Amino acid sequence: MKHFPIFLAVEGRRIVISGGGEAAVAKLRILMKTEAHLTVIAEDANPQIEAWADTGSITLLKRAQEPGDAACAALFYAANDDELEDARVTRLAQSDGALTNWVDNLAHSQFITPAIVDRDPVTVAIGTEGAAPVLARAIKADLEARLPRALGTLARVGKSFRKAVEVLPFGAKRRAFWSDYYFKAGPRAIDDGGPEALPETLETLLNTHLHRDEQPGHVTFVGAGPGDPELLTVKARRALHEADVVIHDRLITKEVLELARREATIIDMGKVGFGPSTPQAEIDAAIVEHAAKGAHVVRLKSGDATVFGRLDEEIEACLAAELSYSVIPGITSASAAVAIIGQCLTRRGRNASVRFLTGHDVTGFADHDWRALARTGEVAAIYMGKRAARFLQGRLMMHGADPATPVTLVENASRTDQRVVASSLSKMAGDLEAAKMDGPCLILFGLEPRKTAAALSSIQKEIAL
Ligand code: SAH
Repeated sequence: MKHFPIFLAVEGRRIVISGGGEAAVAKLRILMKTEAHLTVIAEDANPQIEAWADTGSITLLKRAQEPGDAACAALFYAANDDELEDARVTRLAQSDGALTNWVDNLAHSQFITPAIVDRDPVTVAIGTEGAAPVLARAIKADLEARLPRALGTLARVGKSFRKAVEVLPFGAKRRAFWSDYYFKAGPRAIDDGGPEALPETLETLLNTHLHRDEQPGHVTFVGAGPGDPELLTVKARRALHEADVVIHDRLITKEVLELARREATIIDMGKVGFGPSTPQAEIDAAIVEHAAKGAHVVRLKSGDATVFGRLDEEIEACLAAELSYSVIPGITSASAAVAIIGQCLTRRGRNASVRFLTGHDVTGFADHDWRALARTGEVAAIYMGKRAARFLQGRLMMHGADPATPVTLVENASRTDQRVVASSLSKMAGDLEAAKMDGPCLILFGLEPRKTAAALSSIQKEIAL
């Protein structure tokens, strides 16, 4: 981040704009939404600026800028559309101690103005560090369409009620109240009786929530997918957004964790320091402890929670503690990996079933029905197979698998650093070692990356030659 977004307190402070043309007018239109005192300095001001000055919305100084004009100003805009003049006034304003913006000159600006969605007091600021103004405008348009006009009114009236709502315990109960207000009772009240109806609605709603029975906690087991936050389900996103406590494992990416509510407690149960994994009993205990206190716990597990995730043990811990739970399925890494190489897990005439195997289990390298797997056309997605690769290779060849059977290694599937290595049964252990993978790796046994259109055409050309 080269620009850090903040919200600057400007009420009662000065903002100075140098320039009297279109660029200045455009800035003034946004600045007039603030409660700052606006001063425009321009020898020549266009009629719009003159009109604002006449009604007292701004102060207009019809002369060239002088030292001291931007003294005590919070912000300064150079908007003359004239390079020499903008450079001169920026220098003056900086020596007066103001933060300066030179309109449409990113390199010489100390701050930039974001695209703004205004539902005062809810304000959304969108910035692209000057990289893609078109994108910022598209996002703005999208949000403008999505955020109800009444949002500002709801927030303003709601704010004056915040103190009263403190009678509800902090956390799930208070959130349930506000969620009811913003998304159900509040909009309904505005529709029926206008903004004047809101205070009474808030009173009634608070009463209802105060007398609700103690709400017990709940545990949602959420499959977080292979890492790309866009591969989360809509339900997973919602659960993350509503969680009081998020307990996650080692493979959860920071992009996914960023979708949790800012106030949520995030607990990394991946591993202790650089040591071994957290013991399962400790994870179970943490889930139960938080949910028993009434929290909505999201237990975030990589891929799909039901695939090699020790989910049963955690569900049993919930049941033993008489806690309610639900499971939100996720995209398992096998699905992500196979999509990356453009293949299918099953194929008519090749394999009518597919196996999900683990390279190890609690007792060490896991045993499987090697003979069945060694048959031509079989496909298996092998999880946790890195360390077991040599063992897997040996067992499969011993049971008659063709050493040339294709094997594809997919590391960090769906993440920005994903890697695909095409290999074969006889070479996979060596290829894995050589690739020095330190991210999670899925081994696709019996599948090779599909030739891309470009690769195919070069093959065809070779044949033609
Ligand atoms: N529940 C998870 C699997 C947990 S076991 C799922 O459904 O995907 C952990 C193993 O999953 C890792 O050792 C690796 O084999 C695989 N894995 C998880 N995320 C992966 C990713 N992004 N890319 C490749 N393999 C991954």
